[in-house]
Amino acid sequence: MKVSLITLGCKVSQYDSAQLERMILGRGGEVVPPSPHSEAFLICGCAVTDKAVKEAKQVSRRLRRLNPRAPVILYGCIGELAHRSGEENAFPPRDKEGVLLKLGLKGKAEDALPSWHRTRGVVKVQDGCDRFCSFCIVPHLRGKPQSRKLEEVIKEVEELSRAGFKEVVLTGVHLSSYGKDLHESLDIFSLLEALEKIPGIERIRLSSMEPVDLDREKIIQLGRISKLCPHFHLPLQSGSDRILKSMNRGYTLYHYLSLVDACRSTWPDPAITTDIMVGFPGETEEDFQLTLKALETVGFARIHAFRYSPRPFTLAENFPDQVEDKVKKERMVRLRLLASKLSLAYQEKFLGKVLPVLLEELSSPNEGEGYTPNYIRVKVQSEEPLACNTIVPVRIYSITDICLGETI
Ligand code: SF4
Repeated sequence: MKVSLITLGCKVSQYDSAQLERMILGRGGEVVPPSPHSEAFLICGCAVTDKAVKEAKQVSRRLRRLNPRAPVILYGCIGELAHRSGEENAFPPRDKEGVLLKLGLKGKAEDALPSWHRTRGVVKVQDGCDRFCSFCIVPHLRGKPQSRKLEEVIKEVEELSRAGFKEVVLTGVHLSSYGKDLHESLDIFSLLEALEKIPGIERIRLSSMEPVDLDREKIIQLGRISKLCPHFHLPLQSGSDRILKSMNRGYTLYHYLSLVDACRSTWPDPAITTDIMVGFPGETEEDFQLTLKALETVGFARIHAFRYSPRPFTLAENFPDQVEDKVKKERMVRLRLLASKLSLAYQEKFLGKVLPVLLEELSSPNEGEGYTPNYIRVKVQSEEPLACNTIVPVRIYSITDICLGETI
């Protein structure tokens, strides 16, 4: 069975897709690029925004034209959404077994280790969420929080270490709630404490942490994990307390700023990155101004901005005062301009400084690219030959679209 696997969406989706790839290969299937010879197409996709669903549908139409005889299977959040509207060949995130059966690949669907092709191994430690932010479809598609057992995660990270990975990225739908559903003494800190003892792993990165789960003490506690990258993705969504309340986010801007302050007093110049939602129902120009002000106050290293779109099953779908599309678009332009300015200002702090870069790819023996612990992508030049998957000290000498640096 020649299966073409297309992955769209977040790190959780990438992890699920990589895991399915291993399972397909382990049961005698082949994973091939999409072509008229593909015998099945498998889209592992996202349904978080209306735009993501449209993208998945477009991809699906293109694949159907490529080989009309091959089934197009939808899996993941998009699979759950399509399954609920009665579509065939649609499978929810927790039904990998169903996908394999549909492909005619028999065997037990045990949790196989995904195969990562780069230098950073992603490990999903948790799935599901029960926060029910009023705009978010995810709890309706992925169900209650479900953490993976500590021993299982340790085993997977040990395997990644044996395979040569130096960095692991911990991911989950609601990562900061890790452990709560398993044992009262288990949390993200105890998980990190256990993982940092694994030899060979030099960096641990957290993909995202919900501000509602954090406080100053927890952040200061995280400062004890020496392998933890000083890169914190804390989704703010809005700088207006009125909108945060309507979103059911469970925190105020004041609380959020106290977390940023705690990060900054624990690590020198950590990267604080965020998600911002533009045009949530009822967002006035004044609310939006508050968001812009909050972004400047924090000085985010990177901002992922997206337009609100009503999602099925969510409370906000029926909120009055939906914001017009042209207003959302105009706010997005203003927000993106500010985001680029802030990102550049953050990177400029490191001009002339030496940072360790984990080389991910080489374009020639003396040139490569990789990331610093605080997630700055650097193009590295060196008089000596470079090697992929090594950490080299690099002096940053220029900042344009990408940081440039040379080994010292
Ligand atoms: S915390 Fe909120 S935004 Fe994040 S997955 Fe849960 S409901 Fe969605």
